[in-house]
Amino acid sequence: MKKNLPKSACPSCGYVVDAATGVGHNEQPKPGSYGICLRCSTSLIYTESLTVRAATFIELERLKQGNLSSYQAMQYTIAKIREEAANRN
Ligand SMILES: [Zn+2]
Repeated sequence: MKKNLPKSACPSCGYVVDAATGVGHNEQPKPGSYGICLRCSTSLIYTESLTVRAATFIELERLKQGNLSSYQAMQYTIAKIREEAANRN
């Protein structure tokens, strides 16, 4: 988990993003990396300054040529964990 990212807010839900982790590896986000909001699981892109912005339609289309199924599986898992946590409270 990288904790020294500049703080920025998810454009969808306002969740403050200041840390990130790779999936199954320790890769840190780079400008242009895809991300997923841990609160609302919206698709994010890291900017040059490593803040986050919403992924554009074209960027999501580009993802389809790569690892879309594992990316969508991650989004689903995050949403499911959030839902289960909400139901426990
Ligand atoms: Zn969000």
